[in-house]
Order: sequence, then C-alpha cells, then structure tokens
Amino acid sequence: MRCPFCLERESRVIDSREVSEGSSIRRRRECVNCHRRFTTYERYQQAAMMIVKKDGRREEFDPTKLRQKLRVALTKRPVSEKEVDALIQRVEGQLLALGVEEVPSQIVGETVLNELKSLDEIAYIRFASVYRAFADLEDVRREVEGMGAARRSPDRSAGG
Ligand SMILES: [Zn+2]
Repeated sequence: MRCPFCLERESRVIDSREVSEGSSIRRRRECVNCHRRFTTYERYQQAAMMIVKKDGRREEFDPTKLRQKLRVALTKRPVSEKEVDALIQRVEGQLLALGVEEVPSQIVGETVLNELKSLDEIAYIRFASVYRAFADLEDVRREVEGMGAARRSPDRSAGG
C-alpha cells in the first residue's frame, strides 16, 4: 500500500484493530519517507465455494454458468430475469449457509431443483433431466407422472 501523499511504498504500522466484528482490520500507518499518517483497511476475501463433481473434479461455483443452464431450462417459459436472479441468489445463499468450502455437485443440483420446482414445473423437468442425468426417458416420464398424480383426482370407478 503506497503512501497517498508521496507514493512511498514503505510504511510502518503504528496501530491495528479489528473492525466490523473481526471481518476487517483497520491499520494506522506512518510513511517512512514523509512521516505522514494514513489508514488502510484489510478485508478477508470470502473463500470461493468449490463444487465437487462426480468424477472428483472441482470448479468454482459460478452464478453465470448456473444462469446459462437455467436459461436453457426456462426457454419459452413465463419466468422473468428478476425471478431467475432471485432464484440464483437463494441457491447461493443456501449453499453458503452450509458453511463448507466444497459442495458436491449433487447438492447444488438438488438445491436448484428445489427452487425451480416452485417456480416453473416444466423448467424443473428440463433441468432435472440434465442435472440428475436420468438413465433413460422412462425416469423422466415417471417424474412427470408423479407430479401429475398429485393433482389428478382418481378416475377409477368404484364398481366391481
Ligand atoms: Zn509518504
């Protein structure tokens, strides 16, 4: 951190204290060249959340990538960008709330699916078919029928 007055690189820390409940540190510094004093703040950078894939590869959680996947699932669906943003934020919040640095990709998928289910059922099915890597179409069909069954009234006649 250069001195703001003379741009000298060296400075001496004369006082440091934690602020914002310990999430940042305020340092009072004195320039070794002009001896003027200035204050710097150091903030902990939140560690990037890593997604662990099935094959063990790790990649940083990327909201942009998630948005792209959601866009595909939401093609021609009546869902606004705002709703997509809100969904991504909720997903990210839930993942951060786990308090771990590495999250299995299945957990990410399930979290997204949970949110998507209440937002748009068609998009949910589309996303599920990709994310859960359904073995075959039969699984997708079962999923669709399972969702429909909850709403359908029984149509079997009681007579025997
Ligand atoms: Zn200076």
